[in-house]
Amino acid sequence: MSHSQSIHRVEISRSALESNVRVFRELAPDSLFMAVVKSNAYGHDLDRVVEALSGKVDWFGVNSMPEARRLRRLDARTPVLVMGINAHELMSDVAAPPEGVAVVVSSPDMLEWIEARAPTTAFHLKVDTGLSRLGAKGADLDACLDFLAARPALNWTGLMTHFANVEDVTDQSYALEQLGRFQTVIQRARAAAGERRLVVHAAASAPALILPAARLDLIRVGISLYGLWPSNETRLSALSRLDRLPELKPALRWLTRVVHVHGVPAGAKVGYGCTYQTPADTRVATLPVGYYEGYERGLSNRSHVLIRGRRARVLGRVSMNMIVVDVGHIPGASPGDEAVLLGRAKSGVAPDDQKGEAASEGIEEVSAEDLAELTGTINYEVVTRIAAHLPRVLLD
Ligand SMILES: *Cc1c(COP(=O)(O)O)cnc(C)c1O
Repeated sequence: MSHSQSIHRVEISRSALESNVRVFRELAPDSLFMAVVKSNAYGHDLDRVVEALSGKVDWFGVNSMPEARRLRRLDARTPVLVMGINAHELMSDVAAPPEGVAVVVSSPDMLEWIEARAPTTAFHLKVDTGLSRLGAKGADLDACLDFLAARPALNWTGLMTHFANVEDVTDQSYALEQLGRFQTVIQRARAAAGERRLVVHAAASAPALILPAARLDLIRVGISLYGLWPSNETRLSALSRLDRLPELKPALRWLTRVVHVHGVPAGAKVGYGCTYQTPADTRVATLPVGYYEGYERGLSNRSHVLIRGRRARVLGRVSMNMIVVDVGHIPGASPGDEAVLLGRAKSGVAPDDQKGEAASEGIEEVSAEDLAELTGTINYEVVTRIAAHLPRVLLD
């Protein structure tokens, strides 16, 4: 079955990804660009995204060593940082990590383990400046720096921290406190590093966008690489702080196909729990996605999909593998029609008509933010949860 025929399809736009990288290259020309591709590239598919970006970014960031190994099979050269929890329980197979893969270290204990078991492994020391998740601080940080100063042969290549709430606020005083703490550690770390040159970094998407002082040697861009704003607050801050708002292009469209259409009379119950009752005669379409595919149950009776360019409301509960939508107002809706679960409709009324694609007037869209708002979550979670088994295709 060719991709265009398959019932499920997640389209990833190579040109959107490239354009988003360019936005950051222009914004932070003096910083290296790390494409954060952890968690299956935020649901966009690690393989496709690495295929699209290989050779165009300076670093890749992943969560775990298995992700680093998967990435290495596709791209042999670009440096990779494993940013998740690198406890030795999770790293016992890492005496010799793949070429060009560095790990993040947060404790004296882990440094001792590296010296004893993986003495050539490259690592970045993480400093906790106020997120209280990973990273060394206080006496532990002092111990790390003393330990490293005394061991010039260890392959220490970077220093990093991570902000707690840049995307949650428009007042950045907490982030500036964190940055201040980090600046003092940078001095001490450079002294302890001696001849070793450290890549120093702190900024994820939101600080890279709106806090120039946080860009440092490298920016670690995840959500906005995929064309999404970290939050509305970040967008508002960018509006007020930058000369012009960077144009981020969402890289993902999530599609399925109508598999069944039937008429239902007024008063019909739809879905488990009979939570929806049709007020009038209508036609409904059944789509083969549910919460197993990543279409959240919290969207029951709330969201809509796009069929033939028109909005079709989800009726009743989202089940494990199916939803039912109202197509009473969409003439001709029939099995085989494309349904857009996330992303923009194509402009034409017929799903295969791509002619007017450039004309954006009146084109319906379901954004990751729309779905996030309906279930009280964030766009990060919406895209990351699209089931990994649905086929992704790289376009343009
Ligand atoms: C996930 C992650 C990022 C990327 O964050 P975005 O907000 O998606 O850009 C950056 N740094 C670290 C340490 C991360 O874990």
